[in-house]
Amino acid sequence: MPKDTHASSVASEVTRRVDAALAGPVAKAMKRKRPLAVSDIEVVQLGALEHPDPQVRRWCLFILDHFANDQSMEVFAKALADAEPLVRDLALHSIACESCKQEELCVVDTVPHVIQVLMSDSSVRLRINAISALLRLAGRDGRAREALQAAADSDADPLVRKCAQDAATSGYFVPPKKRYERRQRRHAIAHRL
Ligand SMILES: [Zn+2]
Repeated sequence: MPKDTHASSVASEVTRRVDAALAGPVAKAMKRKRPLAVSDIEVVQLGALEHPDPQVRRWCLFILDHFANDQSMEVFAKALADAEPLVRDLALHSIACESCKQEELCVVDTVPHVIQVLMSDSSVRLRINAISALLRLAGRDGRAREALQAAADSDADPLVRKCAQDAATSGYFVPPKKRYERRQRRHAIAHRL
C-alpha cells in the first residue's frame, strides 16, 4: 500500500474507533454518571490527540478532564502542542484543573507545562489563561512567580505584559474582557455617548 493511503487509512480507523466509543459506551457511562471503562478512556485519549476534527479533540479532552483527569496528564501535556488554540485552551485548563482531580495536583510536574504555554504559545488568550493558572500555583512553586515576572518584562504583547505585571506584583489581575468593558465605559463617559 502506498504510504499516503496507509496513513489515511490509519487516520480513518482512529476516527471510526473514537466516534464509535463517543457515541456508544462513553455517552452511556456519562449519562449514568458511571466511571468509564479503562479501554474507553484509552480510546478517548487517542481521540484527544489524533482525531482529525478539533471539536472532537476538544470534546475528548473535556471528557478526560471530568472523568479521567489523573490518568490523562500526559495526554493534556501533549495536547498543549495541538495546532488549534481551542484544543490547547482545554488542555491547559485540564492540566492545571484542581477541582477535576481526585488526587492532589502535582505542582512540580504541572508548573513547567503552564510556564511553557506562557513563554511560547502564539495565542494571547492562552498566554493570559496561563497567567491565571500560574497565579494559583505561585504560592506553591517559586518558578511560577519567576515566569510571571519574565512575561511582565518581555512578552511581545502589551496586554500580556500588563496582566503578568499585575499578577506578579499584586497577586491579582483583571482579565482582559473586564478590562475592555471598563475601558469602553470610561470611553463612553468621556465622550458622553
Ligand atoms: Zn476541569
